[in-house]
Amino acid sequence: MSDHYDVVVIGAGPAGYVAAIRAAQLGLKTACVDSFVDKDGKPALGGTCLNVGCIPSKTLLDSSKQYHTLLHGLKVHGISADNPSIDVGAMVGRKDKIVKQFTGGIAQLFKANKVTPIAGFGQLQAERKVLVTAQDGSTSELTGTNVILAAGSVPIELKSMPFDGDYIVDNAGALDFTQVPKRLGVIGAGVIGLELGSVWKRLGAEVTVLEAMDDFLAAADADISKLAQREFKKQGLDIKLGAKVTRAQVKKKAVEITYDDAKGEQSLTVDKLLVAVGRRAATDGLLAEGTGVKLDERGRVEVDEHCWTGVDGVWAVGDCVRGPMLAHKGSEEGIAVAEQIAGLPGHVNLDTMPWVIYTEPELAWVGKTEKELKDAGIPYRAGNFPFAAIGRAVAMNESAGQVKMLAHAETDRILGVHMVGPNVSELIAECVVAMEFKGSSEDLARIVHAHPTLSEAVHEAALSVDKRAIHKGN
Ligand code: NAD
Repeated sequence: MSDHYDVVVIGAGPAGYVAAIRAAQLGLKTACVDSFVDKDGKPALGGTCLNVGCIPSKTLLDSSKQYHTLLHGLKVHGISADNPSIDVGAMVGRKDKIVKQFTGGIAQLFKANKVTPIAGFGQLQAERKVLVTAQDGSTSELTGTNVILAAGSVPIELKSMPFDGDYIVDNAGALDFTQVPKRLGVIGAGVIGLELGSVWKRLGAEVTVLEAMDDFLAAADADISKLAQREFKKQGLDIKLGAKVTRAQVKKKAVEITYDDAKGEQSLTVDKLLVAVGRRAATDGLLAEGTGVKLDERGRVEVDEHCWTGVDGVWAVGDCVRGPMLAHKGSEEGIAVAEQIAGLPGHVNLDTMPWVIYTEPELAWVGKTEKELKDAGIPYRAGNFPFAAIGRAVAMNESAGQVKMLAHAETDRILGVHMVGPNVSELIAECVVAMEFKGSSEDLARIVHAHPTLSEAVHEAALSVDKRAIHKGN
């Protein structure tokens, strides 16, 4: 006899736990199965994002920023601080405490919304049965009128340099170094490589980032990535492009890396190596034989635009399906699916998905890049505005960067906004709203923005689309 639920969610990351809470809010009897265990071997809700992703990395980014400012950013304000020091243990301990606070928060939310958490690995079987294998190997079975697969993703491990949790680590390992490595190697100048590379650089490590592609941050608008690359170089992050790592070996308490670049085979020795070459859908063992659910060539669960797998009552959301691997994308898909199950309309617009990279300066964007518009033959006008001309940014001593806005040449509808600069992770929200409401650059140009704020850069970039920015030449 198995327990029956209206909705069984497999995975309690930001896609799964949000889907479970929304389903329960809508009056559906809901269970959420998750196999994650924390450092103490205890089940922990929240998935990658809360345990070893967004929350801990942002915590360390903030701690390391404070230290870096203390060392290098106060003199200009007329403040001096003698002999600042860091206690890496205390810093990592604070991070662990914040993670616990948030994972515990999900448990509270489940309780308040009457979602049943079930610890163990969930596998979908035919007829919407879910087999749960607990940590001790015991099994149980649930059935759902609906099952939502929200299994998330795992770091890609390269055969020539397997993770050992000590010298060669993934994102989780790089959040838990017990001291600042003297030399840190990072493979992949993607989101994780840049964010965690920045943390340890600010704390004093010599950081070398090896990136296989010739272009830096190819997914971002070229003007923005060029500006960001210049700033990272100034900070001393050594980013080597066109460097394809072929192997890494631990020798004499160090890691010897071999890579190929335009000049041939090169080598580099570091004390720790972070491998951040992307993530893949965590679908190993997720589907038993005969479920009818299909995986694509990259191992992701196949779904349509409504996150439906094509099998009656089976849905999939978040990192384990197509689309960007972003926590907020997964959460919105979770909500949309729960609402569809309850008979409401539910939809996520992937065209207005914001992207953020939490480096210093931050990068954020939404919509099409200039290259994408050119390639698609879409006529556009571009406006831009530098933070160097924004009073608030200069007062903060964080004036590197700019906002760039792209609008249709005939209709003026905003097609993309790209930013690098202070707090752009927050500024992008206004542009997402404008795009979702099909707004024009003229709309943003005529909306009052408080002075003095960083948001004036968005206002001026909108004015600049029509060559009428006030505080710069057009
Ligand atoms: P990524 O895809 O962003 O970057 C991986 C990089 O590694 C690529 O640039 C690739 O060219 C390079 N690479 C691959 N093989 C290589 C090799 N052998 N030698 C040198 N370079 C190599 O992947 P990631 O940084 O690991 O992040 C994984 C996912 O997690 C991404 O989809 C990202 O969106 C998501 N994430 C998002 C955030 C955020 O939103 N701020 C934060 C962390 C992670």
